[in-house]
Amino acid sequence: MCDSVVDSPQQPERKGGSAKILLVEDNALNSDMLSRRLIRRGYEVVLAADGAQAVADAAQQRPDLILMDMSLPTIDGWEATRRIKADSALRAIPVIALTAHAMSGDRERALEAGCDEFDTKPIELDRLLSKMERLL
Ligand code: MN
Repeated sequence: MCDSVVDSPQQPERKGGSAKILLVEDNALNSDMLSRRLIRRGYEVVLAADGAQAVADAAQQRPDLILMDMSLPTIDGWEATRRIKADSALRAIPVIALTAHAMSGDRERALEAGCDEFDTKPIELDRLLSKMERLL
């Protein structure tokens, strides 16, 4: 008999997705910690450490979602988001702004720049994951 191999329906249990996430964070410790936790949940993670690299990686890597620190070298997260959202080929990629400042104005500034969501540091992983999953 021909044993036509159809992909078995049994898949490893994953809590996250297999989505590709562009994590933009200039603090190496934060970047390392968050990326490990996302990878453990099944996400593919691409790292960028400044705003200019974030814009370039968004175009080159075509991530499914971007986690954008707002305080970044070269160009900040607001400007990087504006540039990504100004590009018709990239603007559909959801961007979640991450900021250390819980100041009320930051949320509005992030949304004005085109961010789809907003979260504050320190990161609470479950809270962030639920925002990510809603946008993916
Ligand atoms: Mn930063």
